[in-house]
Amino acid sequence: MNIPNIVAEQKAFFASQQTKDIEFRKKTLQKLLKEVLKREKDILKALHNDFKKSEFEGVMTETGIVVAELKKAIKKIKKWSKPKRVFPALLNFPSSAKIYKEPFGTTLIIAPWNYPYQLGFSPLIGAIAAGNTVVLKPSELTPHTSAICKEIIATVFNPNHVTVVEGGVSVSQELLTQRWDYIFFTGSVPVGKIVAEAAAKHLTPVTLELGGKNPCIVDETANIKLAAKRLVWGKCINAGQTCIAPDYWLVHEKVKEKLVDAFNIELNKAYGNNPKNSDDYPRIVNSKNFDRLAKMLTNEKILVGGETDREERYIAPTLIDEPDLNSEVMKGEIFGPISPILSYSSVEEIDNIINQYEKPLALYVFSTDKKFAKNIIQKHSFGGGTINDTTVHFANESLPFGGVGESGIGAYHGKQTFDTFSHNKGVVKRYNWLDITTRYAPYNGKLKKLRTLLKLA
Ligand code: NAD
Repeated sequence: MNIPNIVAEQKAFFASQQTKDIEFRKKTLQKLLKEVLKREKDILKALHNDFKKSEFEGVMTETGIVVAELKKAIKKIKKWSKPKRVFPALLNFPSSAKIYKEPFGTTLIIAPWNYPYQLGFSPLIGAIAAGNTVVLKPSELTPHTSAICKEIIATVFNPNHVTVVEGGVSVSQELLTQRWDYIFFTGSVPVGKIVAEAAAKHLTPVTLELGGKNPCIVDETANIKLAAKRLVWGKCINAGQTCIAPDYWLVHEKVKEKLVDAFNIELNKAYGNNPKNSDDYPRIVNSKNFDRLAKMLTNEKILVGGETDREERYIAPTLIDEPDLNSEVMKGEIFGPISPILSYSSVEEIDNIINQYEKPLALYVFSTDKKFAKNIIQKHSFGGGTINDTTVHFANESLPFGGVGESGIGAYHGKQTFDTFSHNKGVVKRYNWLDITTRYAPYNGKLKKLRTLLKLA
């Protein structure tokens, strides 16, 4: 594999102008749709082989999303790529003005392992729809899914247009030494900073989809039974290895016991009394992450769960009671099925804890007190969130999905992915039938007229 060659060939392909043709883009997306539908079973099997992701979760969080994104892009590509007429400026009278959607060129997408298919293919669809060439680098930690991604792309695309480069950190680093026209990265905050640094060398624009410590607030007015059910779902899906999973809970002291009991009941309903035996409960991706998570359980008061099995990389859905803010579990993003509970009695306590961390990717608030929920949502800065549920804002492709501050730069999903991979080129067309002479030198005696024009504009 010769990375500089791959990039040079993609640059030449982009320069040939083929990807500027909307029909060409549409046809390749249609071909891709056909292939991903044909290979769905293989994708689901690969996800299961990688970390025992169930077929249901595979469809709900991976293949279903990719198919929906593809169908939307195919249906809307003409509309999205059409130059958009905007109001001409009065000072340019007579003129017209348009925004042209221009592909950036040769783009790099680096994906993480936790939704290894969807988080590679969703940005890829937008990049292709917008007319770019793409090199996709899936995560090395999910090798079965990475291999399927490579096969699908190799079947559908000319590698000079779209290709998959497999490999780990060294491959990723070599890719980052190349000059790209756009880099779309999904992964951890430290690696996001490495990507930003590499991109800065050529002033390459980036999207960074990163992580954070997502708070989940449950106040005393919340529907506790429903909150517990939705917390079980949002935290156990993908075994908590979700960038927008609720990380720690801030629960009003009056309802804490009730919430813990309800969580236990809902957990039992969802996964039986031993989630290890449930076909629906995934495993931790590798031993390194297992060890990192298991360490968080030592010296803590466990309210629910706590069982682990290193050989199987199994960690039970676990609730930790009132951990110290300096403890392992409260230090950084958990990224696993462990939930620390901290009780509060005043809003100031909530604010103090949230403000100790960087801006999170997501925030959740369970409350039937509209004013309380609105206040929390407006006061704190976070990527996106949900009131009275967890993670479901991700499912609305009309909402921009992305972080803020340390949780990321930029956003995507649906049309926004197309926009992310497009440069907005603003062009004014002047007409020649009239030429207002105010702006031309000599300026003597024209200032009053200019001020009048500026007032009118
Ligand atoms: P990661 O940052 O370790 O790896 C992501 C990608 O970067 C992989 O393809 C990997 O090969 C590559 N990489 C790793 N180290 C590198 C280095 N030193 N130099 C260059 N490339 C390198 O992340 P991960 O463990 O795969 O995923 C988990 C993290 O991703 C969590 O922090 C999670 O919150 C975040 N995440 C964010 C989103 C989002 O949409 N914002 C989605 C999923 C995961």
